[in-house]
Amino acid sequence: MINQNMMIFKRFLQITMSFALFTALAFCLQCSGFTGAKGESVMGTYCRIDLYKSGNAALYKRLFDRLAELELLLSANREDSELAKVNQNAGLQAVEISPELFTVLERALYFAEITYGAFDPTVGPLVKLWGIGTESARIPSEEEIASALALIDFRDLELQKFTGKTCEKAGTAFLKRQGMALDLGGIAKGYAADELVRILQEAEVPRALIDLGGNIYAWGQKEGGEPWNIGIQDPLGKRGDYAGIVSLPDSISVVSSGVYERFFIGNNGKRYHHIMELTENGEGRRGYPAENGIFSVTVIGISSMDADALSTACFVLGYEKGLVLAQANKTEVLYIMEDTTIKGSPGVMVSFSGH
Ligand code: FAD
Ligand code: MG
Repeated sequence: MINQNMMIFKRFLQITMSFALFTALAFCLQCSGFTGAKGESVMGTYCRIDLYKSGNAALYKRLFDRLAELELLLSANREDSELAKVNQNAGLQAVEISPELFTVLERALYFAEITYGAFDPTVGPLVKLWGIGTESARIPSEEEIASALALIDFRDLELQKFTGKTCEKAGTAFLKRQGMALDLGGIAKGYAADELVRILQEAEVPRALIDLGGNIYAWGQKEGGEPWNIGIQDPLGKRGDYAGIVSLPDSISVVSSGVYERFFIGNNGKRYHHIMELTENGEGRRGYPAENGIFSVTVIGISSMDADALSTACFVLGYEKGLVLAQANKTEVLYIMEDTTIKGSPGVMVSFSGH
């Protein structure tokens, strides 16, 4: 009986001490300002930021607040965004826009021009029509697709920069025809990642890992000078299952576009994903999800905005053209094909190790 009481007492002591230790550790971490990684849902996706030892509540708040601000400028999913204002005024009048929206639109137009419209920020009517990733996703009729396609043309987006004027706005944006609509789903998360990096630079944070729903930025040098090991999503696996790993040096962005991100399976058993074929350049049909034997494309580069636009463009253009496009824009590219082969630019193949 005495033995049993002793055992109970010992166990009680163990639990109390563990609790005290845990509380002391939590208190120390709080004092040092270290709060671990943080995640929030923004821009229709889960965004996670890890500031490692530089993590503190105020800095995390500043970063997530900035993401919320950018959503309010760049979202095609909110009626109160600045971008929505441009859409609502399509065919009517030019709208004064912020430097942020102006920058993203200008870069989107650059990629639209060099891909001859395979990447096009005026893809809005088609994205809305298919509704992929929403509850109203469906296969539209041929007529509906033709009508949406008739409204998509980046040459009908007019940007005018203000000059010699001190103003909060950078210029104006005008969609020339009624019914046209911008959608920056293929580029704006990249801009947001670059913007977070700018804040980290300003705050002199030595290292961070930003993941905006597959739009990754590995900022600074990893502790101990080790390379960053970034997992490439296995297109057939669960979220977080990797097809392989890329080992990368300091401050680089890794952005993937894939058929696994947003899709639905039709009654015919076919997968309908969210990356749209807009030109005759690809192998698929215009106005339908691109079909060129690709599961996913990953682009690696210093600018996350460029890598984001390029991952979408390289997906639509297919392997040969995509490889040329990525390299011409000083990025590396990795393709995972439907037949599970993995291929890419020479630079990325050296750093890639599969399972
Ligand atoms: P990517 O391959 O980078 O881009 C695919 C996306 O680009 C498509 O979803 C479409 O939007 C667009 N696109 C398709 N084809 C083309 C083409 N040929 N040329 C150019 N663009 C094309 N989603 C929600 O459900 N709710 C939200 O509230 C919401 N808010 C958002 C706010 C912002 C600011 C942004 C940028 C996106 C938001 N999204 C929202 C969209 C969502 O996060 C998308 O899944 C995401 O943008 C697609 O990114 P990706 O990296 O998976 O694909
Ligand atoms: Mg993209």
